[in-house]
Amino acid sequence: MKKKQIYIESLLKKKTGESAGHRQRVERVAGQVKTFLETGNRISIQKASLSHMVNSLGKRKNEAAKINIRDFVNILSIDPERRICIAESGVTFSKLVRETLKYNLVPKCVPEIKSITLGGTVSGCSVESMSFKHGGFYDSCLEFEIVTGRGDILTCSRGEDTFEMLHASFGTLGIITTIAFELVPAKPYVHLDFHKYDSLAGFQDAMVDHFTGQDIDFMDGIVHSPAQFVLCTGSFVDNAPYTGTSYWTPYYKSTLKRRQDYLRTYDYFFRYDRDGFWVSGKYGMENKLLRLLLGPFVLGFDNMLNLAEILFFLTNRTGKPYVIVDVLIPFTKSRDFYEWYEKEFNYFPLWVVPYRHDPYYKWVNPGFFRGLTDNLFIDFAIYAFKQPRDGRNYYRLLEEKVKELQGVKILISHNFYQEEEFWEIHNKALYDKVKSQIDPHNLFRNLYTKLC
Ligand SMILES: Cc1cc2nc3c(=O)[nH]c(=O)nc-3n(C[C@H](O)[C@H](O)[C@H](O)COP(=O)(O)OP(=O)(O)OC[C@H]3O[C@@H](n4cnc5c(N)ncnc54)[C@H](O)[C@@H]3O)c2cc1C
Repeated sequence: MKKKQIYIESLLKKKTGESAGHRQRVERVAGQVKTFLETGNRISIQKASLSHMVNSLGKRKNEAAKINIRDFVNILSIDPERRICIAESGVTFSKLVRETLKYNLVPKCVPEIKSITLGGTVSGCSVESMSFKHGGFYDSCLEFEIVTGRGDILTCSRGEDTFEMLHASFGTLGIITTIAFELVPAKPYVHLDFHKYDSLAGFQDAMVDHFTGQDIDFMDGIVHSPAQFVLCTGSFVDNAPYTGTSYWTPYYKSTLKRRQDYLRTYDYFFRYDRDGFWVSGKYGMENKLLRLLLGPFVLGFDNMLNLAEILFFLTNRTGKPYVIVDVLIPFTKSRDFYEWYEKEFNYFPLWVVPYRHDPYYKWVNPGFFRGLTDNLFIDFAIYAFKQPRDGRNYYRLLEEKVKELQGVKILISHNFYQEEEFWEIHNKALYDKVKSQIDPHNLFRNLYTKLC
């Protein structure tokens, strides 16, 4: 049967401007991969924007051979009729949202950090306040163009094993060069309501109501303390009586103080970027004087990442790295998880994002979700928990609890799984099958070896 790969190839057939330049860039990368095949070096990629992998902080200079894809930062086409965008993998969500908004469109999932890239969200994972409708960015993708570990240029589309396994493959199967994905209609402003609850039950009930009713455009939650749950719901609007965020208050705090808010759509998507959610507090930046004096150098997620690299405060050089991780828990087990978290971690704020997970991803071992019927999962995002020196590894505690609850820990930071246990969660059979087809010489390293 002929494969249905239509979007990227038909664009590239036009051989005009952007697409001609793109073809040259991809061929250059394919040629470089072939050269590395001869030397036998393991390779990783070098993007224009910073990596958000916590475990790569402080290690970047020591990594193996690099393939430079810094120039893959172009949006190749936006089709407002079909609501489809084709863009290179190094395009940041900040740039993408600015461009698609010109057509009153936005991606179906926009990670809250400006410099996260399209390729990074497919190879890693993504979650944000539209995830209760659309899942992660991967779920809106139609096609990927990749350079394989054989140095071939390959296009794959939804439903194919290669396409499905590139998700959460963390760069271990090939280099994603181009992505075709869906957009949704947008308006210039977002109106937000902040609903306050003093217990998990009310907070969760409201979340389920909106998930079932699909009556709003955005939903995320922040647990400020065990007695302060805030559900943030939002919808696109054409007009706003006021807009703008206060420089002096991290946005997450506004959700507790205010009852509602209006933001420009671009500002809404990146409302947590300036303070890295609440990570800026670890630098003392909730102090107004420090904000005044050091704000331009410290605030903004990229600044914080750069500083983290200098200070190593997020790395494992201290032996006790901060916990920065997302875990995806089936809704029916989310109360169990939360109660356990409150007892063991008792660390707040905690970001809580409902996530449509339907159908289940193929990179998860098919037996792992046995018996589950949830199509709603909850992403719990723990950002910058300082591990107590009590002899326990809190990353490991999370791994055990999350697995017990048939949840998945996203591999963006420190991972301590034994290999056998890792492949109880991840789909080894399919991973190995795709790996043998597109990276038979293991140029990009194995998922377990690279991440654990
Ligand atoms: C503090 C913090 C907050 C976060 N907040 C959010 C959030 O609000 N929403 C959200 O969705 N996510 C969030 N993330 C997670 C983030 O989306 C993922 O870590 C994502 O993978 C980062 O993408 P990146 O573009 O920075 O890629 P990188 O960090 O550079 O790469 C991530 C992985 O993907 C691989 N990769 C990157 N590009 C390619 C490519 N073109 N081809 C093949 N492999 C590639 C890399 O090798 C690496 O293994 C957060 C992470 C942190 C640390």
